[in-house]
Amino acid sequence: MVYQKTESQHRNDIIDICKRVHSNGWVASNDGNISIRIGPNAVLCTPTGMSKGYLRTDQLVKVDMDGNKLEGELEASSEVKIHLDVYKNKKGINSAVHAHPPYATAYAVAGIPLDQCVIPEIIVSLGSIPLTKYGTPSTQEIPESIRKYLPDHNAFLLENHGAFTIGNDVHQAYYRMESMELFAKISLLAKTLGNVNTISEENVQKIMDMRSNWIKDEGGYAGCRIDGKFIGSAGNGSGAGVNTVAGQNSGNNGSGSSYSPDGSGNNDAAVNGDDVITIRKSELVDMISKIVANIVNKK
Ligand SMILES: [Zn+2]
Repeated sequence: MVYQKTESQHRNDIIDICKRVHSNGWVASNDGNISIRIGPNAVLCTPTGMSKGYLRTDQLVKVDMDGNKLEGELEASSEVKIHLDVYKNKKGINSAVHAHPPYATAYAVAGIPLDQCVIPEIIVSLGSIPLTKYGTPSTQEIPESIRKYLPDHNAFLLENHGAFTIGNDVHQAYYRMESMELFAKISLLAKTLGNVNTISEENVQKIMDMRSNWIKDEGGYAGCRIDGKFIGSAGNGSGAGVNTVAGQNSGNNGSGSSYSPDGSGNNDAAVNGDDVITIRKSELVDMISKIVANIVNKK
């Protein structure tokens, strides 16, 4: 449980992760912010206007869950709003990391979610990484864009901005950022080589079956995409749900539309007028067989 550490240990953890984020080249100048929820109504976060590479433990700011300052000489990052909104809306999350890692951010700028079933470790750890709708920094727009993906995701691409990850503790949130960035880098390199091949549905299913044995009580899981179809998006990695998503490109040139892996239809494709339907393979085969039989009989 993250609260069991002392405040001094939490301060050290934040500074440790700030230095990693800075030395990885995921931030420039004063970019990025990190926080840890250290109590029911207390969050320790990085201050505004300071480089993450040179921050000291005594420069961190303590705020309550509404963002009011409790302690600290400097002002809290204006983006702490995103962190607080996540803590209020997702159980078990006690830390958040925001940065601009270049490969993940390139996908966020290109408007392409990292959601294909291509690497087993990513399928297990993150499932897929959605692209959240652009929001003006420091307003409520970004928290609102993230909120609809919160139940099933722990890593997010912020459209035309950067990346955001959450975790039970600051190390988990940081490692999720590492995983996302490496996934983005590999995806881009594979694309420059000419091919981003997805793993077969049968093999993805095996990975998800293993995942459901390994990972318990982690909340929702969105699964990942093969062409227009999400695999494993219902339940916690059970692989029970298969959603067909309209309006998705089958290659790695996603149109930038966000998706609705829970099948709620609450996605950009639906907003744009393309209805999302779910159909079983057997029903589709049956339907096509009847159409073909009709055509043949008319000849
Ligand atoms: Zn930012």
